[in-house]
Amino acid sequence: MTEDLLARARSQVLEGGRGLGYADLVEVLRFPEAEIPALLELAHQVRIRWCGPEVEVEGIVSLKTGGCPEDCHFCSQSGQFTSPVRAVWLNIPELVEAAKQTAATGASEFCIVAAVRGPDARLMSQVREGIRAIQAEVDINIACSLGMLTQDQVDELVEMGVHRYNHNLESAKSYFPDVATTHSWEERWVTCEMVRAAGMELCCGGIVGMGETLEQRAELATQLAELQPHEVPLNFLNPRPGTPFADLPVLESADALRTVAAFRLALPRTILRYAGGREITLGELGTRDGLLGGINAVIVGNYLTTLGRDPKDDLDLLDELQMPIKELSKTL
Ligand code: SF4
Repeated sequence: MTEDLLARARSQVLEGGRGLGYADLVEVLRFPEAEIPALLELAHQVRIRWCGPEVEVEGIVSLKTGGCPEDCHFCSQSGQFTSPVRAVWLNIPELVEAAKQTAATGASEFCIVAAVRGPDARLMSQVREGIRAIQAEVDINIACSLGMLTQDQVDELVEMGVHRYNHNLESAKSYFPDVATTHSWEERWVTCEMVRAAGMELCCGGIVGMGETLEQRAELATQLAELQPHEVPLNFLNPRPGTPFADLPVLESADALRTVAAFRLALPRTILRYAGGREITLGELGTRDGLLGGINAVIVGNYLTTLGRDPKDDLDLLDELQMPIKELSKTL
C-alpha cells in the first residue's frame, strides 16, 4: 500500500512534476511512522529536482503589532482576546535597521507585516515611506503582509515596488468557520488572486494543528496547489495563552513531518518555508529532517509574537547540510 503510493509519487511528482491529489495526500498524512524516512527522502528528491539545492532566507518585521479587530482563533494579535500582546507601531528608522540586520544574514527577502484586517490610508502611507527608506539604504527584496486588499491597494503596492505579498489561507475552506468568524475564507482567496494577477509573487500558506482533521489538512494542500503560490509558509500551531486555541495540543513531530512531505508532494515547484511553531513541534532534529524532507526556505530571527531560533543556528545548519542560500535577484 505505502509502496504503491511511493511509486505513484515517484512517477507523478518526481519525474512528472505534477503534485499529488487529495486522496493520495490523505494517505501521505496517514503514512506509517516507521516509513516516514522513505517519505521524507522522496520529498527531498522532489525539492532538489524541481527547486534546486538553494534555500531562501527571509526576515520579517512587524510594523504594527497587536490590536487587530479580527478574531482568528490562533492569533495573539487579535484585540478580541486577552493575549498579552499590546498594540505597538514601529518607526521608520527601526524598520530600516531591521532590514539591514536581515540583509546581513544573507537573506534575500524582508517582509513588512502589520496586524490588521486590511490597510487603511495611514498604514499605506507608512508602508510607502518605509519602503522608500529601505530601498535607499538596503539591497533586499521587499515583501508585505498587510491583510486583505482592494484592487487599488494591490496596484499601489506594485507601484511601490513590493516584490512579494503574503496572505495566508490559514486553513482548509471547510474548517475556516472554526478558525475565524469576522471574515471568510473566500475573502482571503480573492486577495490572493488579485495579488497574483497583478504580478507580485504570492506567498500563501497556513497553519496546521488547529484541530482540523487529516482530511482537512489534505484539503488545504490541494487548495493551495490550485492557487499555485510562489511560496507557501507552513506554520505549526503554537498555542498562545488567551486565544481560543490556547489549550490545543502541540502537533506530534511525526505528524508535522508527514505534513511537510505532503505539502512538498502537493506543490513540487513552490518555495516551502518553515514558518512559526517548528521549534516547539520539531525541535533541532526535526528541523533538520524537514530541511531534508522538502523544505527549502526559512525565516531567520524572531516570528511576530514568539521567539524563533537564533539566526546563526539556522545558518550553521544550512552550512552543515551544504545547502547554499539563494542570492538576491531583483525581479521588479
Ligand atoms: S491573523 Fe491577521 S487578521 Fe487574524 S487576528 Fe491575527 S493579525 Fe488579525
